Amino acid sequence: MKITIVGAGYVGLALSAVLADLGNQVFVVRKDKAKNEALKKGKTHFYDPGLEELVRKDLASEKLIPTTSYRQAIPNSEIVFICVGTPSKKSGEVNLSQVFAAAREVGKNLKEGYTVVAVKSTVPPGTTLKVGQIIEKYKQKKANFGLGFCPEFLREGTAIEDTRKPDRVIIGAGDDKTIRVLKSVHRSFKAPVLLTSITSAELIKYAANSYLALRIVFANQISDLCEKSGADINEVIKGIGLDKRIGSHYWYPGLGYAGSCFPKDIAALAAYADKVGLKKSLFRKMNQINSNRAEEILRDLEERFGSFSQKTIGVLGLACKQKTDDIRKSAAIKIIEILKAKKAKIKAYDPLAMENTRKILPDIIYCNDPYEVTKNAEILLVLTESDEFAKMDFSKVKQLMKDNLIFDSRNILDKNKMKALGFIYKGVGR
Ligand code: NAD
Repeated sequence: MKITIVGAGYVGLALSAVLADLGNQVFVVRKDKAKNEALKKGKTHFYDPGLEELVRKDLASEKLIPTTSYRQAIPNSEIVFICVGTPSKKSGEVNLSQVFAAAREVGKNLKEGYTVVAVKSTVPPGTTLKVGQIIEKYKQKKANFGLGFCPEFLREGTAIEDTRKPDRVIIGAGDDKTIRVLKSVHRSFKAPVLLTSITSAELIKYAANSYLALRIVFANQISDLCEKSGADINEVIKGIGLDKRIGSHYWYPGLGYAGSCFPKDIAALAAYADKVGLKKSLFRKMNQINSNRAEEILRDLEERFGSFSQKTIGVLGLACKQKTDDIRKSAAIKIIEILKAKKAKIKAYDPLAMENTRKILPDIIYCNDPYEVTKNAEILLVLTESDEFAKMDFSKVKQLMKDNLIFDSRNILDKNKMKALGFIYKGVGR
């Protein structure tokens, strides 16, 4: 099929690369000329495992065509996916300006005949229909289009794998022809397909993200009770997870939900709930509980172990999770900013995210490996769940550190082993 993807971020680029690899002709349209030129040479502007390799393969087979021209792409496509950003406004409400601007461009460039336009950006109920109205307003008379919403569920760090093998494909559309086209483009994904209304599909995405975030909020509330009672959250999670109705997956006590999606999506759903008159929404409460968690944990650590002011602090992990260089809404960045205000000396390491962090935090010390971080550190903070950190030789770390406090925000280290090595070990909820 001939496909245009509007927006070359995490979602747009991963989808473009996978669809091109499946043999489709894919135009990926972006606004930034320099990034487009780099992409034409096989250079992506962010890291995700396997992405750059796949892009290079698709460029070589000429199945992937990066462009800044809607006119080159849209009239030559049977399907257009809108994958632009949906950031938060200050109020928490979603900012849909990128989506509506993309809709205008799609409308202006639709060819005579029939094209399917599907939104993939995460948007509140009702938005896709507005996208349809915008396209209707800007399109030429003889251009017809079918409208759909297909939520994206990929996770950064496994974007290609998730795009290729999603747990499910949701197709929100109102007419048979659109459903047929969207089904056929997703056929190679070999995932169960659920057909829904456009509005249900829009809400499914927010509901899925909110539920996952809710598990994090829940795990954190139970871990706070562990702190008070002396229980260990890892043991409690194991215990509740053995109940088949609950399951042992996706329990992440720590610094709270973070990253580029959950904070903005839960805030957007809370704002949407307010707007439609849902009093006492759970989403507003989740937002309140989660938003200052990193600060609260830091305060608690200082109450227990003394002030972090002017200390030398080693930080392992800067990105919001492992295998990505994305630092948007990363709890590690928040913590470093607080520590910097306390005039702490920060030494940091992350296998992927140091280049991005340097742009916003130029004046901390970046280390070449995780051991260098620990050298002469008085406190060590483990802030992402990387396997590289879990597998470190902590007897060596003990010798390198000046003092012996380790805070393990992801509970990835063996508490008893750390204590036996002579560390003061503190996890979350244990
Ligand atoms: P992103 O910020 O990485 O990428 C969006 C891209 O769209 C940017 O590069 C931006 O320059 C471009 N863009 C904006 N307006 C444009 C226009 N008019 N024409 C062409 N390009 C334009 O965002 P993302 O992480 O890819 O997310 C995109 C959407 O998908 C969001 O709604 C997000 O919530 C959702 N989503 C993201 C993820 C994720 O893990 N990142 C997962 C599922 C869903």
